[in-house]
Amino acid sequence: MKIGILALQGAVREHRNILTRLGAETVDVLYATDLVGIDGLVLPGGESTTTGKLLERNNLLAPIAELGRAGLPIFGTCTGMILLSKHIIGSDQQRLGLMDTYVERNAFGRQLASFEAEMPIPVLGEKPFPCVFIRAPYIEKADANVTPHLYADNKILFAEQGNLLAAAFHPELTDDARVHRYFLQKIG
Ligand code: GLN
Repeated sequence: MKIGILALQGAVREHRNILTRLGAETVDVLYATDLVGIDGLVLPGGESTTTGKLLERNNLLAPIAELGRAGLPIFGTCTGMILLSKHIIGSDQQRLGLMDTYVERNAFGRQLASFEAEMPIPVLGEKPFPCVFIRAPYIEKADANVTPHLYADNKILFAEQGNLLAAAFHPELTDDARVHRYFLQKIG
């Protein structure tokens, strides 16, 4: 199984390490030619307006959006969650616009810019997941075709819609591989 990792910015190496540990082959995605033959795509964290501009500059925005609409499994963490969303509250920044979600950026306020919390995510098993948040977004609301896997204070922090998976947190910054395994299992 070959997984592309968008390599414009963010924790590319950490995603690569976990995916490799799970037995997947990975390829860094910088240009549209890198998308050929991949079975899934990971969108790491970073800064979503910058990543959006870089996606546009490298002519990746339309090709990735098209693959996503055609069913390519895509997993976005943090900035990746923002880019996957159709609606970014108060922003007209570039995006892939694939998920029927309304995302609020930097949603936890200054005090809570970065924090870690063990959170129960039943779809990953009984043991709570160590969720690392870094200036994280949340999903304020979502249409009925979106399956929320983790709620906190009525906000969605981990969600799935068909071939798309989005986390407000950074599972690549922990040793716990269950989120990535879940993504690979979606692919089959
Ligand atoms: N705050 C960033 C943004 O709005 C996301 C942060 C992250 O990816 N860790 O794009």
